Amino acid sequence: MPELDLDALQNEMTSWRRHLHAHPEFGFEEKATAAFVAAQLREFGLDDVVEGVGGTGVVGTLKRGTGNRAIALRADMDALRITEQGDLPYRSRTPGVMHACGHDGHTTMLLGAAKLLAAEGGFDGTVRFLFQPAEEWGKGALAMLADGLMERFPFDEVYGLHNMPGLAVGQFQTRTGAFMSAEDNFEIVLKGVGGHAARPHSGNEVLVAACALVTSLQTIVSRRLSPADIAVVSVTELLTDGTRNALPGMARILGDARSFRPEVSAEIERQMGIIAQGTAQSYNLGAELHYTREFVPLVNDEALVQEALGAARTALGEANVSVAREPMTGSEDFARFLDHVPGCFAYVGNGEASAPLHNPGFDFNDDGLRHGAAFHAAIVRRRLPVA
Ligand SMILES: [Zn+2]
Ligand SMILES: [Zn+2]
Repeated sequence: MPELDLDALQNEMTSWRRHLHAHPEFGFEEKATAAFVAAQLREFGLDDVVEGVGGTGVVGTLKRGTGNRAIALRADMDALRITEQGDLPYRSRTPGVMHACGHDGHTTMLLGAAKLLAAEGGFDGTVRFLFQPAEEWGKGALAMLADGLMERFPFDEVYGLHNMPGLAVGQFQTRTGAFMSAEDNFEIVLKGVGGHAARPHSGNEVLVAACALVTSLQTIVSRRLSPADIAVVSVTELLTDGTRNALPGMARILGDARSFRPEVSAEIERQMGIIAQGTAQSYNLGAELHYTREFVPLVNDEALVQEALGAARTALGEANVSVAREPMTGSEDFARFLDHVPGCFAYVGNGEASAPLHNPGFDFNDDGLRHGAAFHAAIVRRRLPVA
């Protein structure tokens, strides 16, 4: 097999990435992105390219040799409803939508790996390239799975990358076990009787109770959960139907909770119910709790983390590979694939000077493209070795 010129591939990937950055699409609307991805995969000569998997998802398949094992590599394609700031020549051409999480870079790194593996081979078995829609709202992986992903395109292991601001370009980091958190959303509705601001005793307003409730919710993590468990309960909105001279008869308290084990998530919901009902009762109000689970915890497989670290050392050098000390309380719907097969999710550096993820000034660092593509190729060759 001829070896691909990595400098030429880096230049090509940079142009793909900037094209995708200029044309961002929100979750399940990634039509042009998916068409671009599918056209590239067909040009690389993959054995099979299927569009429309789980809405706008694309699955490419590449086979070499006679091995019957299959490895999946996954990238996300969606952008966010954020207005891009700055004056990059390739800035978003779509008002109000931008690639503020670097999924343009993730898609490009996986395209680069597909081109490299299609040209050079060096593995024995099947590679599935999964380009998923709608990661940001936690629906895209589930949509692909519901569309028969595992039955139509079976695989034994799955790997995925996310860029990480603050980590130097060329660096690779992952962790065994819990790596990213579950995300739950909650809404507590307090119901009383609104009235005149000058005559509080004539109604039964909800705002004082709502303030007490927001404070009491802080005790779930500090007093109800084991200090050994990592969890976050964040109240993010307090909305009422009051106005300057009218006391509210209804309050909505909304927020977000993070945890790493289903038992902890269940306990947060249970304690929230107790506190909401108890507070409401002491103020003679009604209370309703609506609690939903949006993302499951991302738990990396112990053995495959070692394999991923090994592949990263080969591709990026020993000094550029590290184990993360702590799990991160962000969420990723890559975790949905790990419900079906073992795998490993990892970070690649986006540079110390990078703006934070989801910031209007964020930009994926193109210098990292070759490193991500090299890791993808290395894990395939390590897990599907030529005999
Ligand atoms: Zn994001
Ligand atoms: Zn992301």
